[in-house]
Amino acid sequence: MVVWAGVDLGGTNVVAAIVDADHAVRARAKRRTPDGGPDAVVDAIVAAVGELGSPVDAVGVGAPGPVSGGVVLTAPNLAGWDEPVPLAAMLTGRLGVEVVVDNDATVGLVGEWVAGAGRGAAHLLGVWLGTGVGGGLVLDGRPYRGAYGGAGELGHLCVAPGGVVCGCGRRGCVEAYAGRAAMERRVDAAVAAGRGTVFQTLRARSGRQRLTAGVWAEALAAGDPLATEVFDEAVAALGAAVAAAVNLLDLDRVVVGGGIAEKLGQPLADRIGEAVRPGLIVPGERTFRVAELGDDSGVIGAAALTRT
Ligand SMILES: [Zn+2]
Repeated sequence: MVVWAGVDLGGTNVVAAIVDADHAVRARAKRRTPDGGPDAVVDAIVAAVGELGSPVDAVGVGAPGPVSGGVVLTAPNLAGWDEPVPLAAMLTGRLGVEVVVDNDATVGLVGEWVAGAGRGAAHLLGVWLGTGVGGGLVLDGRPYRGAYGGAGELGHLCVAPGGVVCGCGRRGCVEAYAGRAAMERRVDAAVAAGRGTVFQTLRARSGRQRLTAGVWAEALAAGDPLATEVFDEAVAALGAAVAAAVNLLDLDRVVVGGGIAEKLGQPLADRIGEAVRPGLIVPGERTFRVAELGDDSGVIGAAALTRT
């Protein structure tokens, strides 16, 4: 029997899992992501795969950056990854099995496509809401990576020329409105300008400044005017960006995932769908679904990639 492993390489953790033919996770191992550069990260992946308890025949890896031909071109969230890293070749050398490496947003979408909210779709966009806004594509029934592994950069679609400055240095990107870091900056600016908000209470209670997805869900449920205003703007920006993507690619499904999507569930996907529809040119049935697999989408998608 062939044993497939999937690895989700993130800025904080390395998660490895054995995934069976029905896309169910059978074993799991987790390590902190080391900050010692590519060799240390390779050691951590090899160790995590070794902890899975049985020899594996193929390994898929989702990496946080554009990937082309098994080479991670850039990875701003990994310390010391200043040059392109031939991660697939490095891991094949250490593990002695076939290793496939792909971009984590694409890999997560493949997970949802084979086993979650993307099942049955042929033209699929994944929207990942986290610190930033990520995107992945399946087109014509195949993961789509583009010429340099950079396809699906939904977060930096411009929805407001001359608008708010984004973390990438450009203006008006959807991420500058809908990324959690950007939304937090908007809240902080409003608070600094003297605006009262439930966020102050929630921060005092938790003793933490970070506005996590859970804090956002609570502030929105409480009907906090500032939270509502900032989040409405985020949904409007996402609506404009996703409508542009649907018009460009004629997609039949959009899957919305990430921390805030897990907290708010299908109503968030419905809201984004409502924001998208007025912007669509060509009629057609387009469905908007919240992701189903949570953090497991990465390992499930990575393992699935070794089979396609
Ligand atoms: Zn940007």
